[in-house]
Amino acid sequence: MTEVVHDPAAFRRACEALRADGKSVGLVPTMGALHAGHLSLVEQARRQTDAVVVTVFVNPLQFGPGEDYQRYPRTLETDVQACEQRDVALVFAPARDAMYPSGFQTHVEVGTLIERLEGIHRPGHFRGVTTIVTKLFNLTGPCYAFFGRKDYQQLRIVQRMVRDLDMPIEVVGRPTVREQDGLALSSRNHYLSADQRERAQAIAHGLRAAASAWAQGERDADRLRSLAREPIDAAFDSIDYVAIVDPDELEMRTGPVADERAMIVVAAHLGSTRLIDNLELGVDPVP
Ligand code: AMP
Repeated sequence: MTEVVHDPAAFRRACEALRADGKSVGLVPTMGALHAGHLSLVEQARRQTDAVVVTVFVNPLQFGPGEDYQRYPRTLETDVQACEQRDVALVFAPARDAMYPSGFQTHVEVGTLIERLEGIHRPGHFRGVTTIVTKLFNLTGPCYAFFGRKDYQQLRIVQRMVRDLDMPIEVVGRPTVREQDGLALSSRNHYLSADQRERAQAIAHGLRAAASAWAQGERDADRLRSLAREPIDAAFDSIDYVAIVDPDELEMRTGPVADERAMIVVAAHLGSTRLIDNLELGVDPVP
């Protein structure tokens, strides 16, 4: 039976009780509207830990002005059902004021990793992410925490924060779950019209083109990038970036890829919907 907790202090006590019982805790932080991508994290947590804890909180701090905080899907009841079916011990779904009471003024911020890619296009986003994730880690206590590679920059930033601040957390990164046509699952896919949904496949086409060139030995970052960019340019309304970066520091690569490690990262718009995706070339499965 999944217990649903709204109060942060009660959530902390429940996590402490699990550990006092000798159980390892697996934390899956989400903003809800759970789909198969989130649920793959839950299932991995189930395999790897004794008690799974899912948090559902649409974090206002990580949305910029004019972004989709208000219209972001909120489906707590079905989220809890999905958790129940997967034997989740606890769902933590706090109210906004419980996490950010009046007078809240403390933030956690990672260094140069947040200045790149998403950081350029969504100023303040990662500061919101690392602040809420720190709060969730502090409430949960020592645990394994599961994050998707779909939000690769976020994963790297959380890993860096945990290392830099000696947090008692084991971060686990998990592969991106995709639709049959290659589109990465995202709560934001719900915003797409039928026509936009069709056009959204172009990201997977771009990633595939770069991946197949990589498999054939192409190591020029500029050529890999333009192969990926072509279908996205044709189908999307605008592109924030299509770039080749190094998978550790997310620094932009141009010319020959020196160390045999490269990641392709994409952010692009269809109408008012912004989609992101990525692929570590030669490592992640080709969509
Ligand atoms: P969100 O609810 O969008 O904040 O996502 C919560 C967690 O689920 C994050 O760690 C995401 O990276 C992960 N996630 C979202 N979409 C996917 C996906 N398609 N495949 C795997 N993980 C995902």
